[in-house]
This record gives sequence, C-alpha cells and structure tokens, in this order.
Amino acid sequence: MARETIYLVCQECKRRNYIADKNKRLHPQRVEYKKYCKFDRKHTLHKEGR
Ligand SMILES: [Zn+2]
Repeated sequence: MARETIYLVCQECKRRNYIADKNKRLHPQRVEYKKYCKFDRKHTLHKEGR
C-alpha cells in the first residue's frame, strides 16, 4: 500500500494541526488544504509536512 501519514501544517503559525492519510499514487505532489486553525481562529492554508 502506498499510504503515508502526513501532518497538515498551518502556514500562519506553523503548528501541526491535523494528521492525515495520503495515498501517494493519487497525490504525488505535496497537498494543500484550507482548514480551520484553532490557534489563529480562522481558516488558513495547511500544507503537507512531517
Ligand atoms: Zn495557525
């Protein structure tokens, strides 16, 4: 299985807010999601990190 556990890192405060599963075959590039950051108390861009 080409599955990998990744962190979603808030680009404003750099905190790891979410843990996600990624299928490397479907998403060979780094993924980005708009998600709620409870530290910034708003939706921010979260990027894949380790
Ligand atoms: Zn944040």
